[in-house]
Amino acid sequence: MERLMGMTLNELKEVTSKTSLPAYAAGQMADWLYQKKIRSIDEMTNIGAAKREQLKTHYEIGSRPPVKTTTSADSAVKYLFAVNDGAHFVESVYIPSRDRATLCVSSQAGCKMKCLFCMTGRQKFTVQLTANEMLNQIQSISESQGLDNVVFMGMGEPLDNVDELFKTLEILTSSYGYGWSPKRITVSTIGILPGLKRFLDESSCHLAVSLHSPFHEERLSLMPVEKVYPIRKIIDLIHGYNFSGQRRVSFEYILFDGVNDTERHAKELSRLLKGLECRVNLIRYHTLPGVNLRSCNELKMEYFRNMLNKLGVLATIRVSRGEDVFAACGMLSTVKNKKI
Ligand code: SF4
Repeated sequence: MERLMGMTLNELKEVTSKTSLPAYAAGQMADWLYQKKIRSIDEMTNIGAAKREQLKTHYEIGSRPPVKTTTSADSAVKYLFAVNDGAHFVESVYIPSRDRATLCVSSQAGCKMKCLFCMTGRQKFTVQLTANEMLNQIQSISESQGLDNVVFMGMGEPLDNVDELFKTLEILTSSYGYGWSPKRITVSTIGILPGLKRFLDESSCHLAVSLHSPFHEERLSLMPVEKVYPIRKIIDLIHGYNFSGQRRVSFEYILFDGVNDTERHAKELSRLLKGLECRVNLIRYHTLPGVNLRSCNELKMEYFRNMLNKLGVLATIRVSRGEDVFAACGMLSTVKNKKI
């Protein structure tokens, strides 16, 4: 059965031609799928009953509720979704705050990038998520209607799954789809250069880059991707785009005690980011067993932030959410869920 949710307007037009529906029915289907967010083809009441039956022989909506929900003491909610016909699992995290509600979405089950500080990186990569599976995380949770922002910062590297990511972004931002402003969406990457170039050229969603160290050797020891796509090349590319208007770029920087939290790091960061309108988000490291890295205490984090601010780099400390249910940054893993 093919899934309609996750199809772009052009793909829905192909469905209409295969089922001898008029071309305008593609727009009607998109409205049912992405505005009215229906769960069954029978709800498409402006498509004749016989045609709906015909559609149902090959297609379904493809909406799947989460298989598990875990609520953190600080009100973050971790959702577990089955993907790839139940063969694998991914997690999403709903993060409500005083002024907005954000959903952190996964793009892959596991990850190939093997960042030292990340639980997902320890989990073997198994499958790319389809646009259906990414949209389903947004559409099938009970808080869906009240979401203000979506961040592609969950499991996986979104720019290692560009085609399905771009379909998802198209559906979220097109008038035939959700009709969201790109300002409501942030894509986070460790810097896969070809995907990043395409993202910068074709999308106007916000960008977040995982930086974590301004020094090549040190970043390489934390993030193997540095060998292929060094941070300097990523920054050079970003310099070619305009971030002074609506579109924002931010840099994620997990602070590791005694590793990347010195004055030398702050100075090099300010050199690296010179001339870019950006923000650095400082993130507390959530300790992983067997990894020789420690988190910084609050005082050290504030000290590093102040150093950056004095050097002219806008830096803020990101409040950590969902740690008690392993939903915080770097903690997502579905390794234990194989037998659900
Ligand atoms: S930090 Fe992101 S890119 Fe790195 S291993 Fe984790 S999920 Fe993959």
